[in-house]
Amino acid sequence: MLFKEIFALDQVKSELIKSVENNRIAHSQLFIGQKGSPKLSLAIAYARFINCLNPINQDSCESCTSCLKYTSLSHPDLHIIFPVIKTSKCTRSSSYLKSFREFYLKNPYCSLEDWFVEMGEKKPHIYTHEFTSTKECLDSSRETLYNKLALKNFESKFRVVIVWGPENMMKLATNKLLKVLEEPPKGTIVILVSEEEKKLLPTVLSRLQLTKIPSYNDLELSDFYQNTYGDDKNNLSLKASGDISFLIRMQSSNDEGFLLAEFSKWMRLCFKQDFVEITKWANGFSKKSLLIQKKLLLFAIKVIRNSIIYNFSNHSILKISNDEKVFISKFSAFINEENSILIVNEFEKSIGYLNRNISAKILLFELSIQVTKLLKVKAKFVQN
Ligand SMILES: [Zn+2]
Repeated sequence: MLFKEIFALDQVKSELIKSVENNRIAHSQLFIGQKGSPKLSLAIAYARFINCLNPINQDSCESCTSCLKYTSLSHPDLHIIFPVIKTSKCTRSSSYLKSFREFYLKNPYCSLEDWFVEMGEKKPHIYTHEFTSTKECLDSSRETLYNKLALKNFESKFRVVIVWGPENMMKLATNKLLKVLEEPPKGTIVILVSEEEKKLLPTVLSRLQLTKIPSYNDLELSDFYQNTYGDDKNNLSLKASGDISFLIRMQSSNDEGFLLAEFSKWMRLCFKQDFVEITKWANGFSKKSLLIQKKLLLFAIKVIRNSIIYNFSNHSILKISNDEKVFISKFSAFINEENSILIVNEFEKSIGYLNRNISAKILLFELSIQVTKLLKVKAKFVQN
């Protein structure tokens, strides 16, 4: 994210920007703030700004080679360490990098709690092997942070190591990190991003320059809601108590309920082959925003895939709401390995057409006709 993409918090942003412009970049830093304040995104925006080749208007440029790699969190001189579930002796954050990137890019306001939910039921930790050399690791195929820090930076002036959730670090790992903080390699900045300052050892704290990241107040969250989603009819921004990530989660579960209701209504009309009502439905839904139209089609693809899982494997592995489970328990009877691919294909093609501004009214009607036909396709082994 860029500074300007992070909602509000102008004062803390301007302090961070000034520190870079005045060349006062501390090598060991702590970003501290309550759950739901955008600490991680600010740390990434700050790291990006430090390394941007052509900063403009007190922000990163978005288009230089450094910025482009920061956009996808794939810059070779950016290292993010976060709590993980141990699956082998040497599990490190890098083992989870792909899922972490997807998770973060989906919601850059994510909180540690969101990540823990993503990781499953066990409590994740930052393990000692994050900071040990390749030699000490059974899986020596990957270069470790320790080995990388011993080398020169790949391409940027400042290599940035972000440690997200250091309060979940094993004690031995803290000792190893302390060594890095005592003598950071040349051109390396370490930023700890924490929710619980009290859980950090005084020896660690004493080595860090502190930046407090404020939480959002009710008014700011209400503005955020209006700017992002429109009218806050259910007062969700007040219910979030300053936690922006919680607000986004509440909104998306609202979305899911709406999408499920809309999708089941649509499918019922397709089953009945009621083309008069389908025309009315397509007409009404074409007036919704493009974003909602695409969301419905993406949701539809998800339901088809979940129906296949429901038919061919253990129902308990489906992580969906109860309402969706009830719907899928009936709907999945009409989905099989033959028609699922064809229906998903139709939905995917339609998302492509929507992106090209084709009339949604006609598109949704024609798509309904295709889906009506495809829902009648039986699986081959049943026919034989
Ligand atoms: Zn740039």
